[in-house]
Amino acid sequence: MTQTPGFATRAIHLGHDPMEHEGALTPPLHLTSTFAFESAEAGGEMFAGERPGHVYSRISNPTLELLERRMASLEGAEAGLALASGMGAITATLWTLLAPGDEVIVDKTLYGCTFAFMHHGLRKFGITVTHVDMTEPENLAQAMSDKTRVVYFETPANPNMRLVDIAAVARIAHAGGAQVMVDNTYATPYLTRPIALGADLVVHSATKYLGGHGDLVAGVVVGRAEAISEIRLFGMKDMTGAVMAPFNAMLVLRGLKTLSLRMERHCASAQAVAEWLEAHPAVASVQFPGLGSFGQHALARRQMALPGAMIAFELKDGLEAGRDMMNGLRMIVRGVSLGDAETLIQHPASMTHSTYSPEERAEHGISDGLIRLSVGLEDLSDIIDDLDDALHQPALRKSA
Ligand SMILES: *Cc1c(COP(=O)(O)O)cnc(C)c1O
Repeated sequence: MTQTPGFATRAIHLGHDPMEHEGALTPPLHLTSTFAFESAEAGGEMFAGERPGHVYSRISNPTLELLERRMASLEGAEAGLALASGMGAITATLWTLLAPGDEVIVDKTLYGCTFAFMHHGLRKFGITVTHVDMTEPENLAQAMSDKTRVVYFETPANPNMRLVDIAAVARIAHAGGAQVMVDNTYATPYLTRPIALGADLVVHSATKYLGGHGDLVAGVVVGRAEAISEIRLFGMKDMTGAVMAPFNAMLVLRGLKTLSLRMERHCASAQAVAEWLEAHPAVASVQFPGLGSFGQHALARRQMALPGAMIAFELKDGLEAGRDMMNGLRMIVRGVSLGDAETLIQHPASMTHSTYSPEERAEHGISDGLIRLSVGLEDLSDIIDDLDDALHQPALRKSA
């Protein structure tokens, strides 16, 4: 091949030559905890970092290494690290970057367990956690201090879909000497590549679109080789032990092969569902980057190749009506998580974001009536048909 392989090609082929593995089309699954040393001296050199190779699977494993190389390539980063969960990736990275007395500035809205880690975890260890509404990057410039080490955000944010201008925030953070860490779970590298826009580290819950089939829990972080090596040897090996199982790495590698195809379909269906919801008389508001009515539509078009497949919406009669609608669904699954083949629906205030107190939810823009929909890969007409039936429950008739 003369040209640099494209996204889908790298997601399928990068780093695996069947001829090096007895012709096996799919990469081998290395189910091993430890690795043999050729000699006592070789083992010592590997521990000292003077000789390449695998020592023990809490540090590295060839099946994970292939996933790490593919994720680094897809995100346009130097190196990657696979971890046991998205929370494993986030915590191992922040334990590596931060020390008591440091400050981390985070966006106003965060995934529930990330919010809990910041407030109940990091704060307990003398780290200052400051929330800033990063939809206006100027707010970050005001908030930066000489203690700010890390600027952290999600875009789109879970669950209310607010976007952050990665390039603008990165310029401000770097001017103040801080590193930029982005949770790219909602967008995936198929839609947004934060490293190219100035981010230093990108984390993922690979449980979601990267795995794509709801059959595993996994996480990934990518960034510069030196930073990833520190996270591997301290945040993962010593601080959290949040190691991905080789079998899960194999499943995520399988998921990546169809990521581009799945995202195309997820996004096309979500666009149609969002437009349908917006036109429905029972629906009060829809937050979806692909809608012309979306407050940050221009930023979405600039920063995202496609609008994603996560929708946040509210019914006119609020939470009660939302619960009635959710209970009336027959195919769409009531459940947390996202990015699966199945369309999933949940209520953040009582489920994924119940780690916030009611006052905190109000302050952070997570309203009680908000419903989160992860549009799956079923036939679009069946997704809409199910929503339509559920919105015609007797309890909902008065607003419809
Ligand atoms: C699910 C999720 C996480 C946590 O990932 P796990 O794999 O469940 O640990 C972090 N960030 C976002 C945006 C998520 O949706």
